[in-house]
Amino acid sequence: MKYDVVIIGAGPGGIFSAYELMKKAPKLKVLVFETGNPLDKRHCPIDGKKVKSCIKCPTCAIMNGFGGAGAFSDGKYNITNDFGGTLYQYIGKDKALELMRYVDDINMSHGGEGTKMFSTAGSEFKKVCMQNKLTLLDASVRHLGTDINYIVLENLYNEMKDKIEFRFRTPVTKIEAEKDGYKVYYGDEYVEAKKCIVSVGRSGSKWIEEVCKELNIDTLSNRVDIGVRVEIPAAIFSHLTDALYESKIVYRTEKFEDAVRTFCMNPNGIVVNENTNGIVTVNGHSFEDPSKKTENTNFALLVSKHFSEPFKDSNGYGESIARLSNMLGGGVIVQRFGDLERGRRSNAKRIEEGTIRPTLDATPGDLSLVLPKRILDGIIEMIYALDKIAPGTANDDTLLYGVEVKFYNMEVKLDENLETSYKGLYIIGDGSGVTHSLSHASASGVYVAGKIIESIG
Ligand SMILES: Cc1cc2nc3c(=O)[nH]c(=O)nc-3n(C[C@H](O)[C@H](O)[C@H](O)COP(=O)(O)OP(=O)(O)OC[C@H]3O[C@@H](n4cnc5c(N)ncnc54)[C@H](O)[C@@H]3O)c2cc1C
Repeated sequence: MKYDVVIIGAGPGGIFSAYELMKKAPKLKVLVFETGNPLDKRHCPIDGKKVKSCIKCPTCAIMNGFGGAGAFSDGKYNITNDFGGTLYQYIGKDKALELMRYVDDINMSHGGEGTKMFSTAGSEFKKVCMQNKLTLLDASVRHLGTDINYIVLENLYNEMKDKIEFRFRTPVTKIEAEKDGYKVYYGDEYVEAKKCIVSVGRSGSKWIEEVCKELNIDTLSNRVDIGVRVEIPAAIFSHLTDALYESKIVYRTEKFEDAVRTFCMNPNGIVVNENTNGIVTVNGHSFEDPSKKTENTNFALLVSKHFSEPFKDSNGYGESIARLSNMLGGGVIVQRFGDLERGRRSNAKRIEEGTIRPTLDATPGDLSLVLPKRILDGIIEMIYALDKIAPGTANDDTLLYGVEVKFYNMEVKLDENLETSYKGLYIIGDGSGVTHSLSHASASGVYVAGKIIESIG
């Protein structure tokens, strides 16, 4: 069976490629392979009661399946070139923003209408941040919320399912370059494709590394972000979150001159477990539905670690630190900021006596036994810096969950079409190392679909 286009991965990158091809070139025969399940079959068995921790399902319902890693996310689509990826370096800043807005329009016409777009433009907080050695990055952010994000994905799938072929629970194992296209293998079987879009996200990072090795495609890997998730009463950050929803704030530490940044802010949200290749780390969500809102806000504080030669395994470094927290705590560890500052572990009693009700059932412990000193010092400095613009951040009862790790895929060598050195083989989304976010990954999908339509003529 020969397809015009085979897409590997049904995360935002793959979905928006497929959607654009369906809309703009409906005659093309398109197939999408996906390791995980359709959206309505994606259920993580962890319920906090019978199943408390990861039971290592064959495919992770959180990371794999229609919607990709973003399916149960907070659905924050940041429209900016300041963070979320470096797509603009390939396609230009204006084009990148235009495509992110285009994706937003599609989301709005598939159930997202009525959700709010926040913006830092003209915000008084820029100056307040500057006065306190903090930098507020520029962005517009569409907050769909976990519930509306799901509805948008459901609507996109319903529109595509009769026009695009989806094969779920079918991991692609190998890509072979042919004279005029590609053989895409799933086990012993294969399909042929004229063009191939690889959009396998973070969960496909190890596999894409193998593909690049086999096909001799150059890659580069040198970054991982490590830190904690902070949980505070929502009132402490409400002046920022009411106006901006998510504020991306960067602080340069005095001691090491490292950049520490806020990441993934969830006003009135919940802290959640995240499972990457069997390692449990921490993340956060929030819902649009008022009945699901909590009294807390959470956000990550991350320190980027860039390594130089000869060390190449930056993700391995992050994994080892996360493994250490799993070894000590059986999963995610939670500690009161006051306990961390006093050099003592938190225990169930101290957490219970605190004024903040944790939204994740994590193991009370000591993060200083897990995080390297340089990273921990940076986080502590940042908490005091944030305390100046949001007094109360550095309270003793502030909860810190660890560890949060943001793994980056190695960067694949691509040209301005996001095409590899093989004609017709495109690598997009987080799997390419070019993007790290919903909006950038989705935009890269639309972009490549456009390039394919142009090249087919
Ligand atoms: C809990 C959580 C919350 C998040 N919140 C936000 C947020 O609010 N805003 C934001 O911008 N970003 C957020 N992110 C990040 C965002 O989800 C990703 O940047 C985005 O999903 C990347 O899209 P992608 O298509 O490149 O990859 P993915 O979404 O990872 O999709 C890749 C898909 O490919 C499939 N796949 C992998 N290997 C194969 C294979 N060999 N064969 C077939 N299929 C394969 C996977 O199963 C997966 O479904 C969050 C991530 C998580 C985990």
